[in-house]
Amino acid sequence: MLLIIWGLRVIYRTLGRGVFFCRRCGGDREYRHRTGRRYITVFFIPFIPLTKTGEHVQCLTCKTRYVTEVLKLPTTVQMQAALIAGMRAMVAIILRAGDPASPLSRRRALDAVTGAGDGGYDEEALKTDLAESVDTARPKISALGAQLQIEAREWCLAEAIRIAMADGPLTGAERAAAEHLAAVLGMTQAQAVGVIALTDSVSSRGDDPPGGCSNFDVTGE
Ligand SMILES: [Zn+2]
Repeated sequence: MLLIIWGLRVIYRTLGRGVFFCRRCGGDREYRHRTGRRYITVFFIPFIPLTKTGEHVQCLTCKTRYVTEVLKLPTTVQMQAALIAGMRAMVAIILRAGDPASPLSRRRALDAVTGAGDGGYDEEALKTDLAESVDTARPKISALGAQLQIEAREWCLAEAIRIAMADGPLTGAERAAAEHLAAVLGMTQAQAVGVIALTDSVSSRGDDPPGGCSNFDVTGE
C-alpha cells in the first residue's frame, strides 16, 4: 500500500532587505521584507499553492514580525539627521531675528547644534546656515516637528529662545521669530506663549535648565 504523507507549510519569499527601527530591540536593525504562501505538501515538498499569508517585516536580530507600515517610521540615523538639520535651521532663523553678530548668541547657537548631535558644527557652518533662505529652512523645521513629541518640540523651541536671550532680553522681533518657529514645529499659539514665558522667567532668574533637543533623541543603543 502506498502511504502518501500530506502536510501544510508556509513558504516565504524575501521581497527586500534594509535597515529599520526595531521597537523590540530599541535601535536600528536589519530587516527582511517577506511574503508567504501556504502550500499543501506531499512528502514535505510544496505541491499545491494556497492562499497568501500577507507581507511582513522581520527583524533579523530579534525575529519579531511587524506589519510593513513599520518601514515608514524613521530610523534613529534618519531621526538624528532630521534633528540636526531642523536645529540648524531654527538657530539661523532665531539669530537673524536678533543680532546675528552677537558672540554670546552665536556661542549659544553652536552649543545648541552640537548638543543636537553635530559635534563638528562650527562658525563656518553657522555662516552658511545664516545665508540660507527661510524657504529652504522651513521644511527642515516642520520635518523635525513631525517626528517629535510635544515635550521635545517645547525643548527645541526653548533652545532657540535661549539663543535669542543670550545677549539680552527677548526683543519683539525675536519673540515673533520664536512664535513662527513654534508654528512651523506644529505647536499651537498657546503652547508657544507658554514656552516663551517659561524660558523667559527661568533665564531671568539665572537658572539654566539642563539638556536640550538631544534629550529627546530616539533611544539608540
Ligand atoms: Zn529586533
